[in-house]
Amino acid sequence: MAVSVLQRDVIDDSKNHELASSLIALEDQYGAHNYKPLDVVVHRASGVWIYDVEGRRYLDFLAAYSAVNQGHCHPRILAAMLEQAQRVTLTSRAFRNDQLPLFCKELSELTGQEMVLPMNSGAEAVESTLKVARKWGHKVKGIPEGKAEIIVCANNFHGRTISIISFSTEPQYRDGFGPFLPGFKVIPFGDAAALREAITPNTAAFLVEPVQGEAGIILPPDGYLRESAAICRENNVLFIADEIQSGLGRTGKLFACQHEDVTPDVMIVGKALAGGFYPVSAVLASRKILGVLNPGDHGSTFGGNPMACAVARAAMRVIVEEKLSERSAEMGALLLDRVRQIRSPQIREVRGRGLWVAVELNGPARPVCEALMREGLLCKETHDNVIRLAPPLTIEREDLLWACDRIKAVLEAR
Ligand SMILES: *Cc1c(COP(=O)(O)O)cnc(C)c1O
Repeated sequence: MAVSVLQRDVIDDSKNHELASSLIALEDQYGAHNYKPLDVVVHRASGVWIYDVEGRRYLDFLAAYSAVNQGHCHPRILAAMLEQAQRVTLTSRAFRNDQLPLFCKELSELTGQEMVLPMNSGAEAVESTLKVARKWGHKVKGIPEGKAEIIVCANNFHGRTISIISFSTEPQYRDGFGPFLPGFKVIPFGDAAALREAITPNTAAFLVEPVQGEAGIILPPDGYLRESAAICRENNVLFIADEIQSGLGRTGKLFACQHEDVTPDVMIVGKALAGGFYPVSAVLASRKILGVLNPGDHGSTFGGNPMACAVARAAMRVIVEEKLSERSAEMGALLLDRVRQIRSPQIREVRGRGLWVAVELNGPARPVCEALMREGLLCKETHDNVIRLAPPLTIEREDLLWACDRIKAVLEAR
């Protein structure tokens, strides 16, 4: 069975249910089971639409956790990738390349931050940030060596490495993975007074998501980011915003911190930075902060490679030139309004900002996501009882309204 699947050519209009089942069986047999995906086997995607191996079409309402804000296989990003792939893909940082300088300059101009440290995955950029914050604390702020503390928020999500899960408050993310890394202090999210109290002379940084995405799109109280940034400034503590999911247009501004006119000392970006074509992340900060890194202090074989930089440059241009932040604000208001009109005893709360809307239910969200899939809409629960609605920011009004009708039908039938 497995061999016949591998030998068969997958073609666009394949209506092969057997193929889908065989591929699911193969993945379950040979792949580690660290995810529980919906049983849709994707064959191709374009814009907001995803097609499975059986030829069925779905509207994507997850956008790869906001990594494809620009829509799937965006033609301008694809062109940049193909062009670059024919010239040079990887040099390592042992040599310079002709894309990295332009990527750094353009990302710096986009974010208003002076310097860029290019990495690959989001977790890697967070790891790099923790190293920079600790080194800044020890070498610039004057914290005794090995004593630097970093304050984080309860229900955070910053990735899956050992150091990052060391300060996770989600038991499953930690279970069995200890021993953990010391040097972190957890405070409640949205509570500026708790931040003030937690700071000691050894505090190097405060790391926060401006909107807690994985926790269920939790918005902080108005003024929280501004007040936290001010408290950090008063205490010579770095204010670090993890904008990996909230940034690059998702909340209706280019960055979620801009809703409160806050410029973080350090900003972390990833996901949509390369429009889903490539893993590209970056740490952004002033020269005073990123300047603590000297040759040999930190590195990555793939970080800043010419392929990543060319793709990210195109992906950034698409966000700006197609006004995706503005679209997110406009379409997001429509989505929020429509979903709030749904009457169902299942719904506990609807909240969101931009094209990032959470529907918190009184019961499990998984069966609702499965029902939506049967209606042609792909989204994924976060935690047990929250449905996250986050389509590509390129979504057209009529497609959005079509989706709202499906969501209404599924929720009102329950
Ligand atoms: C996704 C995410 C990460 C981790 O990114 P990976 O690319 O999956 O390692 C970190 N922080 C936030 C806020 C995220 O949403």
